[in-house]
Amino acid sequence: MTFSFNRRSLITRLVGLSLLLLLFVQLAGFFVVRDSIARNARMQIAREFDTGEKVWLRLLDQNAEKLRQSAALLAADYGFRSAVSSDDLETIASALENNGQRIGAAMTALLDTSLRVRAISAQTPGADLSATLASLAPALAEPSQGGRIVLVDGQPYQLVMVPMRAPLVVGWVLMGFPVGAPLAEEMQRLLGVQLVLQVRRADGSLAAPVSTLPVQALQMLQGMKGEIRELEAGGSTLLVREIRLDAVGGETRVLLLRSMDDVVAPYRNLQLLLAIITVGGVLLFALGSGLMARRLTTPLRSLLFATQRLSRGDYSVPLEDVERHDEIGNLARSFDRMRVDIAAQQAEIRHLAYWDRLTGLPNRENFRDSVQQSIARSGVGGELAIITLDLDRFKHVNDVLGYAFGDQLLKTVAGKLADVLGEASGVVARLGGNEFALLLEPGNPAQATELAARVARCLEVPLAIAEQTVDLSAGIGIACWPADAQDVDTLLSRSEIAMYVAKRKLEGPLRYDPAYDSASTQTLSLLTELRRAVDQGELRLFLQPKVNLADGVTHAAEALVRWEHPQRGLVPPMQFIPFAEQTGYIRQLTLWMFEETARLLATPAAAGLRVSVNLSTRDLLDLELSARLGRLLEAHGVPASAFCLEITESAIMDDPQRAEAMLNRLSEQGFKLSIDDFGTGYSSLAYLKRLPVDELKIDKSFVMGMETDADDAIIVRSTIDLAHNLGLSVVAEGVETAAILERLRALGCDEVQGYHISRPMPASAFMEWLRK
Ligand code: C2E
Ligand code: CA
Ligand code: CA
Repeated sequence: MTFSFNRRSLITRLVGLSLLLLLFVQLAGFFVVRDSIARNARMQIAREFDTGEKVWLRLLDQNAEKLRQSAALLAADYGFRSAVSSDDLETIASALENNGQRIGAAMTALLDTSLRVRAISAQTPGADLSATLASLAPALAEPSQGGRIVLVDGQPYQLVMVPMRAPLVVGWVLMGFPVGAPLAEEMQRLLGVQLVLQVRRADGSLAAPVSTLPVQALQMLQGMKGEIRELEAGGSTLLVREIRLDAVGGETRVLLLRSMDDVVAPYRNLQLLLAIITVGGVLLFALGSGLMARRLTTPLRSLLFATQRLSRGDYSVPLEDVERHDEIGNLARSFDRMRVDIAAQQAEIRHLAYWDRLTGLPNRENFRDSVQQSIARSGVGGELAIITLDLDRFKHVNDVLGYAFGDQLLKTVAGKLADVLGEASGVVARLGGNEFALLLEPGNPAQATELAARVARCLEVPLAIAEQTVDLSAGIGIACWPADAQDVDTLLSRSEIAMYVAKRKLEGPLRYDPAYDSASTQTLSLLTELRRAVDQGELRLFLQPKVNLADGVTHAAEALVRWEHPQRGLVPPMQFIPFAEQTGYIRQLTLWMFEETARLLATPAAAGLRVSVNLSTRDLLDLELSARLGRLLEAHGVPASAFCLEITESAIMDDPQRAEAMLNRLSEQGFKLSIDDFGTGYSSLAYLKRLPVDELKIDKSFVMGMETDADDAIIVRSTIDLAHNLGLSVVAEGVETAAILERLRALGCDEVQGYHISRPMPASAFMEWLRK
């Protein structure tokens, strides 16, 4: 048993408290019993005293009766009577003495009719005995029931006096007995009561002529004054009852004494028994509680261990005590239910953490683990490869055809990839969103390239889902172990780098090349530097004129950013704008451009000029955009109508609803709005008509190709016509030759912008150019 008396434990406290209560109750009981025993003993003794008092008086009566009979016998004795009548004193004296001796009287006397002592016989003759008797005689002559107690010389005597009649009273016979030890001893024998007869002598001192008490106790008693109820002597308590005696010649009282101990003795055994039972009970209780505690703590302990196991994540061991029918059983059962539920949830969570719900494929984490294990398995000389692919335009598909369709498409692609892998050993996983990966193990670079090509080919087959046909394509990257990377994370990220390069270049599968990596690290460091570009004043505002073909005058220009990098020199926007867009930094850049433009427009020289500023997706999704621009306008005192905001189709299509709302606000604010790079996206003119747009900018790729490509010429022409039909003005950008300019003029294009007119130039140069 590992049950220990930890002072703080619940059990110890419970048992301790119960024991204490038990002890308290038992003690209270003990005292009540002791008290009532004492009370009962006193009552019993009081009753005994009542009896004792009666017996004592009775004994005195009996004695007196005996005396009276003897005295009467003597008084009737013929010889004695004749001696009295003849006044023969000698005979009288001897008769008195003989009779007295016969019945054991201490004194015998004859008194004449006038109660004078005529003759006396006494065992202890004292000089004043006759005188004493003479003084007592009148009282004795009175008829009384018992014999009178008379003190003679401090000794109590019981005296009787009977008349001698002939027939007239001729004298009195008096007889006396000492009230002494025999009487007291008889009392003790009969009732077990001690007796003390106390007498106050003439000199006031207290004497105890009769006593059955031990000397010491008697001395203590004699020392006590007033009424005595109890006497403590020899370690025991004596109860005392006082009986006043009607005595002649001094104060006399009889004290009955009874020891409490004797009366209580039988109860003492009872009390002892009770004490033994109490001790036994407490021991039994302690033992019982201990056993109970063990029954309670052992399962509690096992519950405790169980919860500790649960918190360690070990859900396999079922709980004990589930069969019990008590509270412990309930607790154990609910703990066990919890264990089972948590285990199930853990399994579920683990599944969610490692598997992709939609396709049922392993997720990125799971794939990473698989690759890691493969690397560990392959060892020296082994080879494996991973292929990652990112579906093109997936977001577009989701937006246009709905998410359910998008999900279906992902599932189909997952199935196709599994088919492509076929018998080859490996893993297909969905890394997230529209990104998938394949592990080929074992697999050398040639096999990996071959597999990647098959993946690309299978994606070329248009997908038919729910009566819709979708052309799929993807950027595909390959990275081989151990040639391209030594560890799983580098391998994965290099495969993804290759994949992004493939995507950007719109090429087929590409194997990782260290050159890709340096390009991306370069852009990364560029990005950190870009953050400081605004603060350090490295950005420049360039302007490119827009010429109105109707009057040949420049009323407008496009604001284009340049970065004058301290080391790299002038960095073209295409090298940092895309990254600024990815990180959201573009918003600060846009505001900087907008403010620089506002500052320029606020100068008198720029009166009547309208400048176009480029907005990106991130700007458009910023709910605060119109408020921010409004504040800048106010700060520089420039009207919104002096600005045109250029937005590409794709920026609108990223989140058409929000973009539309923002465009409406900007338009209401007074800004002119222009659709940039028109023709490269998918939006229809009919859709654009809904937007508060003022201008279309035909993308430079079409404009530049007008002369050589018939298709481009048709696109430019029809765009101009359609835009005019919708009431929009048309700008052609990328005008590099006079011939193109003339063709555009012929087609009715409103404005032109391009190197043929002027390259973008610093703001000051532009103002100079304007003046000429
Ligand atoms: P974009 O908005 O289409 O700007 C027009 C681009 O065409 C400019 O390139 C301009 O220099 C170039 N261009 C103008 N005329 C001709 C021509 O005759 N022939 C050819 N080949 N190109 C011509 P740039 O300045 O390099 O800007 C490239 C892109 O960077 C811009 O395309 C725009 O998307 C972005 N960008 C530039 N500045 C900003 C800016 O301040 N904010 C934002 N959000 N994007 C900007
Ligand atoms: Ca533009
Ligand atoms: Ca453009």
